[in-house]
Amino acid sequence: MAEKPGHTCVQSLQDNYTFYVCGKNASLFENGKWYCRRHAPSLVTAKRAARQATYDAKRAAEQAAGTAKQRQQAENARKLAAFDELLAAAERAADALERVILVQFRSVSIIKQVCRLQMNDLRDAAKKAREA
Ligand SMILES: [Zn+2]
Repeated sequence: MAEKPGHTCVQSLQDNYTFYVCGKNASLFENGKWYCRRHAPSLVTAKRAARQATYDAKRAAEQAAGTAKQRQQAENARKLAAFDELLAAAERAADALERVILVQFRSVSIIKQVCRLQMNDLRDAAKKAREA
């Protein structure tokens, strides 16, 4: 709406404990009253909505960033747990292998002892044969 000289903004304002009326040149007529461009209810509402939209967008971006970070942390925790599981499995395999090797080693030792005993028997038998 075009500016109407002679009309002033009727917006009530407060400065600390002092109440006063805006009084600036009015250019907008809304709800049966004249307002300047700063206090026209439609512009105040639009400005507030724009501020809220900016705030909401910022919050949404922060939440999205937070969610991405949480997802990354969960993924890292999952990888770490999988790594721990792998390490535990490797340790179990190493223990099992160690047991097999110990059993084999004992078997070799027993075979070696049996061989030694048999060789001693054969030596004794040879010695007896020479003495006879
Ligand atoms: Zn005003």
